[in-house]
Parts: sequence; structure tokens; C-alpha cells
Amino acid sequence: MPDRGRTLLGPALALVHTGRAPTRSALTAALDVTRATAGAVAAELAALGLVTVDPNPVGTGRGRPSHRLGITPDGPVVLAAQLHADGLSVALVGLGGDLGEPVHHPLPADRAPEPMFRAIAEAGAALVRSTHRRCLGAALALPNPVTEPDGTALAALHFGWPSGTPVAALFAEHLNAADLGPRVRHPLRTAVANDANLAALAEHRHGAGRDARHLLLVTSGHRGVGGALVVDGRLHTGSTGLALEVGHLTVDRCGRDCPCGNRGCLNVETDPQALLAAAGRTPAPDLPLLAQASTLTREADHDPRARKAVDEVAKLLAIGLAGLANILNPDRIVLSGLHRDLLAAAPDHLRSVVADRSLWGRICQVSIVPADLEYAELVGAAELAWQPYLTDPQLAAR
Ligand SMILES: [Zn+2]
Repeated sequence: MPDRGRTLLGPALALVHTGRAPTRSALTAALDVTRATAGAVAAELAALGLVTVDPNPVGTGRGRPSHRLGITPDGPVVLAAQLHADGLSVALVGLGGDLGEPVHHPLPADRAPEPMFRAIAEAGAALVRSTHRRCLGAALALPNPVTEPDGTALAALHFGWPSGTPVAALFAEHLNAADLGPRVRHPLRTAVANDANLAALAEHRHGAGRDARHLLLVTSGHRGVGGALVVDGRLHTGSTGLALEVGHLTVDRCGRDCPCGNRGCLNVETDPQALLAAAGRTPAPDLPLLAQASTLTREADHDPRARKAVDEVAKLLAIGLAGLANILNPDRIVLSGLHRDLLAAAPDHLRSVVADRSLWGRICQVSIVPADLEYAELVGAAELAWQPYLTDPQLAAR
């Protein structure tokens, strides 16, 4: 196809992938090209086995009938993996954020990097071997900052890994050493990133952050608080991948000590442990902290002590969000993990504190919404693995 059409393949695939071009006429309009060019681009994506073009045009109520576009149902997948404090999860993900059933495994007894990455590779390879679909890449979500471009982990507090552990290299090495079966082109392309960053990317493309221009995501899944910013569709990761450590914003200068060296950070004042402590509860050692804290937020309706704890922690979260809104001026804030539950339990309280405590809050209230995706970190990891193909779909050619 001509060069002009080739440069449109990536943008066209991204439009179908994110549901913004459900028909060929929508693709024509979004790419701002002629019908013939859009038709040729859609046909090329179909020839690559990525997109389907319905041969029969269907009416959509407006304008002339058009050909429906979709993701090839049996098309290629990528492997998404997530390491978290309670275990490791893997899933196969098609284009369109089409997440297969995730498989969850406990963490190995030895939490050192080598046995952990071996366990991830074994779990991932077993899943890749189990499908008849081609696997084009893999990406891993980690609960710690990951530097760019060298891919090392800093402050991997959950697992006690040394600062500077080469996580990108370890993931690539262990996965490619595993038996991936016959439907993988060696070496498999791999990538690693921070889980909150990936969750934000997933929510922006397929969830509660769709169409937001400056999307701020704040989340607490186990210990601590993470955040990320997506600006015009791209993650803002700073000069070395470490931007948006929103957890270390001070919200109570007389508060708890934080591992960062400061005190009263969002990280230690609004995570599951902080909420349980505010209600005077000792966490049960055999249950995930998030599950226990989420249950507590649902008890706020009938338990005055739970209500008081929820309101206190929601207020501290809102003070943090107000500070972030002043600095970042997002048009949408998506709350995930425990923060999603706090929003559900105290929506008016949380929103009014953000409005009262931020410069722009009273004038132009920023929209604060709950996260939409159940496994946003896995969907986001898949986005990272798909990225080379969204940039140049011809890489998917057999
Ligand atoms: Zn801190």
C-alpha cells in the first residue's frame, strides 16, 4: 500500500482498539481521509489478521450504511502479568482490551528476584502454551517504581528487593528461557512498568477515563498509595519514569512515619492498613488487607465506628486530591482500589472537601469517578505489550 496509507495503519488500529471507530465511516471521519483510503487501511489491518470488516454495510441511523469494524475474534494475544503483595496473576489479552480469564498463583516462599521471576515466567508460559492463538508480546505490572529507559526497580518495599534490581532484563530473560510453545516468535518482546501507571493507561483507553484529556488516577491496593497521570493519551512518567509518586504528598504533618522518610503521607494515611487502624481493627493475617478494608467501607452505613473511620480517611484522601488538582489541573480523577470504595461510601464528603480545599474546586469542579475495570493492571500491562503493534501494525505480519 502507498506510504500515506502505511502511516495511517497505527492510528487506525488504535481507533478500532479503543472502540472509537466501530464502522468504516467513523474511521474515515476520525482519520480525516477519503473513503477509499480508509477502506484500504481497514483492508490492510484485516489482511494482517487484526481487524474484521463486515462485508455487508449496516445502517447506523445516521448517514449512509457503513461496514462494521471489529477486532478479529481469533486474532493474536499478548501475555499480561502482575506481581502484587498477595500473589501473581497472568492473563492473555486480545486487542480491544479483551481480557481472558486471569489465572492467580501464590507467591513463591523465596521472595528474592530470581525465584519470583522464574515463577512469573512459568505461570505465563503455561498460559501461552494453552492457547491456539499467536502470542506477540508480554508485559509485567510491578507494585514499585520502575526506571525508564533501563527498567530497574527502585524501592521494591513489598519484596525487599535491592534498589536497582534489573526487572526488565529479568522478565525478558526468564520468560524467553521458558517453554513458550510453537506459536511465539523468539525472542518474545517484553516490557515492565509500575502497576498504577498501567492501571491509568487501561482506564484511559477502555474504562472510566475514556476521553479525559488530563486523567489522574489514584489508588491503594494493599500497602501504600500509587498514582499516575495520562496526558492526551500518553502516560506522564517524568524524566526517568519516576513521576507521580502521589503517595508521598503530606496530608497530615503530625501523622504516621512513612518509609520515604517523611510523615503523614497519603501513602500511610489512606491505605487499607490506615483505614483498619482508624476503626480500631487489627488486620487478620490470613486475609488480603484490601478485602478487609473494603468490607469496612461497606459497614459504614450501619456501624458508627466504621462511618467515623471512613469519613476521616476520605477527608485525608480529599486533602491530597485537592493538592494534586491544584498542581495538575486534571479534567477527571479516577479512584481505584480502596479509594474507589471510600468514594462509594462517602461520595459527597469526599467531593466537597476536594472542592473546598482546592483553588479551582469551587469554580470548576473536577469530575471524580470510580475505576471501571476489574483487572486494570493486567489490561494496562497488555496495552504496554501491544504498544509496538499499535505504533506499527505491520510488525504483526507472520
Ligand atoms: Zn512518604
